[in-house]
Amino acid sequence: MNLKNQLTHSKIFSLLIVMGLAATTVATLTLKGQSQSQMTTNDQNQSKWNQLTPEEKRVIVEKGTERAFTGEYDDHYEDGTYTCKRCNAELYQSVNKFDAHCGWPAFDKEIPGAVRRKPDIDGSRTEILCATCGAHLGHVFMGEGFTQTDTRHCVNSISMNFIPARMQKSETVMPTAINKAIFAGGCFWGMEYQFKQAPGVINAVVGYTGGHTKNPTYREVCDHTTGHAEAIEVTYDPQMTNYENLAKFFFEIHDPTQLNRQGPDIGDQYRSEIFYYDDQQKATAEKLISILTQKGYKVATSLKPATIFYPAEDYHQDYYTKTGGSPYCHIYTKRF
Ligand SMILES: [Zn+2]
Repeated sequence: MNLKNQLTHSKIFSLLIVMGLAATTVATLTLKGQSQSQMTTNDQNQSKWNQLTPEEKRVIVEKGTERAFTGEYDDHYEDGTYTCKRCNAELYQSVNKFDAHCGWPAFDKEIPGAVRRKPDIDGSRTEILCATCGAHLGHVFMGEGFTQTDTRHCVNSISMNFIPARMQKSETVMPTAINKAIFAGGCFWGMEYQFKQAPGVINAVVGYTGGHTKNPTYREVCDHTTGHAEAIEVTYDPQMTNYENLAKFFFEIHDPTQLNRQGPDIGDQYRSEIFYYDDQQKATAEKLISILTQKGYKVATSLKPATIFYPAEDYHQDYYTKTGGSPYCHIYTKRF
């Protein structure tokens, strides 16, 4: 009896272990199944995300901050909707935008459910992220008394796109290709002046790129210790122009045959260089250079993949508009 009982007990015990193992296995399989399907969904979503420039990645993925007063939407009050640069989700309406004089776009309210809040790693601030894709937007501040909601979403312009209200009624397909171009062709004041007048150009910012130091200043760039070139970053409307038009224009407003200088401006920071964002831009630039070469130009323009573009100090932005002058070495000359 005792022995039989013992056997029975041990059998039941074994059975329980087996059942336990089986239950654990089922649980594990279920968990694996769930995480696998979640991963597939994320991957599918990610494949629909817009391609980001290195500077966009620095802010959106690596949680950086754009330089104050340089963003496209800082001083921007058109009627419409601000969307996520990475996934196109709608984030803010223009009616909730206000001027906080802080150098970044400010909103007193988000579109319900569009923005996620998270304690910042710095321990004191609250980070805001796109609730759909987790893109870093900026930070949210309370209790400053700006508007009735007592809330300020301080958002990097570069984390957003803007869709004007006039376009929302029609079917708007957001461009997924990069609508930016970076060119270096001598003194950036003149380059900016010319590009701001080119058809389809939404914005042009002067800055530094192509070198090896972070956050360079004008003085450092002039001292030839940074490797950076004076450059402009152009944002364009793909429905009105394209990269080829802009690259042609670039070759026609500066002299691409001059090596490491442009007119009276001498030094490698005044070099002629195209910083391409993708293979298509690179191929376009190569095609135009070969056309110019066939026409007899000894093109000195070099090509390099785009890296982080650092906007220059405020006093360099819109220089000719502010000072009322006009460029001395960027005159349009037809070459194509
Ligand atoms: Zn997003």
